[in-house]
Amino acid sequence: MDSPRRPAGRIPREVHIENDMDTGTDHAQGGRGHGGPGPLRIKDALTRILATLQPCTKQERVTVRQALGRVLGADVVATGNVPAHTSSAMDGYAVRGADLPTAGTGTFHLAGSALAGHPFAGEVGAGECIRITTGGALPHGADTVVVQEEVTVHGARVHITAGHHTGQHVRRAGENVAAGATVLHAGRRLAPADLGILASLGITEVLVFRRLRVALFSTGDELRPPGEPLGAGEIYDSNRCTFHGALARLGAEVLDFGIVRDDPAALRMALQDAAAGADVVITSGGVSVGVADHVKAALAQVGRIGFWEVRMKPGRPIAFGRLDSGAAFFGLPGNPVSALVTYYRIVQPALDFLSGAEPRLPLALTVPTRDALGKARGRCEFHRGCLEADPTGTFSVRLAAPEGSGILRSMSLANCFIVLPEDSGPVAAGALVRVEPFAAFV
Ligand code: AMP
Ligand code: MG
Repeated sequence: MDSPRRPAGRIPREVHIENDMDTGTDHAQGGRGHGGPGPLRIKDALTRILATLQPCTKQERVTVRQALGRVLGADVVATGNVPAHTSSAMDGYAVRGADLPTAGTGTFHLAGSALAGHPFAGEVGAGECIRITTGGALPHGADTVVVQEEVTVHGARVHITAGHHTGQHVRRAGENVAAGATVLHAGRRLAPADLGILASLGITEVLVFRRLRVALFSTGDELRPPGEPLGAGEIYDSNRCTFHGALARLGAEVLDFGIVRDDPAALRMALQDAAAGADVVITSGGVSVGVADHVKAALAQVGRIGFWEVRMKPGRPIAFGRLDSGAAFFGLPGNPVSALVTYYRIVQPALDFLSGAEPRLPLALTVPTRDALGKARGRCEFHRGCLEADPTGTFSVRLAAPEGSGILRSMSLANCFIVLPEDSGPVAAGALVRVEPFAAFV
């Protein structure tokens, strides 16, 4: 981890966890014999995590083309107007607004043209007009554009009827971005439109926080990497592949430490190796209380455990701590859905924070559920849903697939989480529920 200074910019000290939906009171007390805090509410787990971590402060310059998904390190202030000149928003004729007829038809003398990239050098005089194309600079004197479909042209005489108004179809200089305005703030995770805004300002390079280095391994004697034959009782390690994808979306650098056996010494060594060059270590499997679950014990030997249970389903066992190197540690459950849900809910906000990124506030909607939903009180539940509109455009949500925490297809088929708060009991079909769509459109 870098120095404990917070990054520059407008990054709020508190991450908003308002979408969290925990409505329970204080978390259950007692460490179940492990000396830990007992199952935490999601919100409290995140508060603890963020209180422990220091955001990365190192920055680097990258080209705008390489900056997609990277976190901006400093505010970007516009050095000029975009557009730089007042221009036409339509193909048509530029005139002086004062010359427009208030009744009947006015006739204008066609004095030249201003095509995009080819400005008209002179001035538009009284009673004159200029042929102009979309994006063409508005010539001196002109302040109004009449769309070409609305005029009649006879040679150099252009007839314009009444009904137009001064200033129409004109893009003012700076109406997109005004010189001196802060267009993008530090902490912004750059989206495609942001790259376009930077380019529109003529910027070729930006300062971004360095990528997070995230070490990753899967645990389990039953796991084999795809590409190798499966022995009796073995399965392919899918979680590592899932996390490669999730981390790539965050722009993290992934250090892949493969599959580690359910063996305390092997886990200890793997944790130390992984921690050596990483900001964060993420593992999956082995965090429950079975005989082959050694991750917590290994963590206790080469680091410190913060907590290992969160009141959520799927995903109750999830270990968080620090390794002696300073790296943050997340031990996620092995079940593929549990691993991914805990990643989105617990790990991703932490990675955003560590990256210097402003917290994201997921879009949430309230819609009726078409399926009845089982629900135990005292934990926040995340069902995988398909949010759909009927032919009248009314939205509702249904379960995407069978609900098992091993059924990764449910995440693949879903387009949203159905989030049921801690204090909710079972939900009947037709009841209103909160959904959080997975992805934005742009
Ligand atoms: P565990 O959390 O280790 O008890 O594992 C719970 C379940 O998830 C078991 O059925 C494991 O076989 C399965 N599992 C664990 N790790 C992975 C993985 N990397 N990929 C796919 N399934 C896994
Ligand atoms: Mg296991």
